[in-house]
Amino acid sequence: MNSTPDIPEDGASPDTPVSAAPAFAELALAPEVLANLNQLGYLTMTPIQAAALPLALGGHDLIAQAKTGSGKTATFALPLLGKLNARSTRVQAMVLCPTRELADQVAKEIRRLARAAENIKVLTLCGGSPIRPQINSLEHGAHVVVGTPGRLLDHLQRDTLRLEALNTLVLDEADRMLDMGFFDDIVAVADACPPHRQTLLFSATYPDGIARLAARFLRQPKTVKLEEQH
Ligand code: ADP
Ligand code: MG
Repeated sequence: MNSTPDIPEDGASPDTPVSAAPAFAELALAPEVLANLNQLGYLTMTPIQAAALPLALGGHDLIAQAKTGSGKTATFALPLLGKLNARSTRVQAMVLCPTRELADQVAKEIRRLARAAENIKVLTLCGGSPIRPQINSLEHGAHVVVGTPGRLLDHLQRDTLRLEALNTLVLDEADRMLDMGFFDDIVAVADACPPHRQTLLFSATYPDGIARLAARFLRQPKTVKLEEQH
């Protein structure tokens, strides 16, 4: 990802003065988290991260609108990881994604960002995989679950997924989830979450269904909308 503005070949200053992209060090993150970001090569924040991370780390609910590839995963992963109690193996954060492929990517990114924290278990729960091994994994405990709405709802109805300790709910690529017909499943899953929680909603577009989800499940959300990423 390259969010650095182009510098003209002749070394002249760009016409518009551009302030340097903000560093993660400006955020209230633990030193070991900053060191891990540094190791991952995350030196400066992307625009969505710079705009949304201070709000999300401050505990606000958030509606974030930004394109694919803009670094949204860290925008919700860092706040949810910051609140985890590693000593409890109860599910404390849940991320809803439209597809198994996206859930796998999100889980992988959360694990990379959690490397500074010891023994954070991130479980993916998606349809199309046998449910029995997922149930076994849930019995052993997980801090974060990432999954598709239908399968998450299935686990809730079987009582194999318990959300009493949940403090962060993320709806990732919410517009795509609606395109795939997940509205009712999202409502059922979000209704099963404790009311006292942080809810972070990410979407590239803002159709009516997203507004309805936001009105129902977010509390005094802050909105961050970035049209131009690059
Ligand atoms: P989105 O969810 O908006 O499509 P991702 O969170 O998947 O974007 O991030 C896209 C890519 O950019 C990933 O490979 C991720 O590791 C990388 N990335 C995210 N934030 C940064 C950053 N601040 N610095 C460098 N790379 C980053
Ligand atoms: Mg994403």
